[in-house]
Amino acid sequence: MSVLRNLVDSVRNGGIEVVDLTAPLSSRTPVLRLPEPFGNTVPFTLREISRYDDRGPAWYWNDISTGEHTGTHFDAPVHWVTGRDGEDVSQVPLDRLIAPAAVLDLAAQAARNPDFLLEIDHVKAWQEANGPLPEGGWLLYRTGWDARSHDQESFLNADETGPHTPGVSAECARWLAEETPIAGIGVETVGTDAGAAHGFDPAFPCHSFLLGAGKYGLTQLRNLDRLPVTGAVIVAPPLPIVGGSGSPVRVLALVER
Ligand code: MN
Repeated sequence: MSVLRNLVDSVRNGGIEVVDLTAPLSSRTPVLRLPEPFGNTVPFTLREISRYDDRGPAWYWNDISTGEHTGTHFDAPVHWVTGRDGEDVSQVPLDRLIAPAAVLDLAAQAARNPDFLLEIDHVKAWQEANGPLPEGGWLLYRTGWDARSHDQESFLNADETGPHTPGVSAECARWLAEETPIAGIGVETVGTDAGAAHGFDPAFPCHSFLLGAGKYGLTQLRNLDRLPVTGAVIVAPPLPIVGGSGSPVRVLALVER
C-alpha cells in the first residue's frame, strides 16, 4: 500500500491519532505584554461583517484582527534582530513544516519554580535515555504552563519584578541553536523565552540564538502531555504572510497508537 494511502487509512481507523496542540483563538487568548516604552500587539478580535441579515442575508462572515505573535504561533528567523537577514514566515521551506518531535517534560520542576530554566544537562540526560535530538525536528518543552492559558494574568504570572514563567537558560539556548540539529523549539508559554529573560545575557536568549541560527519557535502549545517522548510527527504550517515575522498556526501532532 502507498505511504499516503496508509496514512489516511490509519488516521481514519485510529492507528494514528491526530492531537491538536493549538490554543483556541479568541479575544480571551492571552497575549504578550511588554513594558513601556515598547510597542504591544493587539488581542485577537472578530468583527462581524454580516450574519444572515441586511448586510448579507444568506451569509455570515467576519474580519479578524490579530498580531502575528498571538496565541499558538510560529516565530520566523526575521522576528529577531539576530535573524534580520533570514527567512520571513512566507519563506520557511515547506519540508520543515512536517517534522519529528522530541518531548522534554519538565512540568514537575516548573510547578515548583515558575522561573525554572531548561539547562544543557536536562537535554543531555534526555538524550541518554531517548537518543539524539531529531535532525530537523522540534524540541517540545513541556512545563505544564498550558493549564494556565485560560487566564491572561495567571498565564503571564507577572508581579512588580516582571513576568515569571519558565524558559531556557542562555547557555542552553546557545547550545540548542549552535550544537544540535533541531529545526526549532516549541513551548507552552506566551513566548519561547522565560518571563525573566529580559534580564538574561543576552536578553531573550532563545529568540536571539535560535532565530539568529535560522531556527524557529512555536509558542502557546497545549496537550504536550498526550505525546510520546519520541515518535510524534508535528505539522505546523504558518500562514504565508509576505514579509511577516510570524503567524498564528494550527499545530497538529500525528501519534501512532
Ligand atoms: Mn513570537
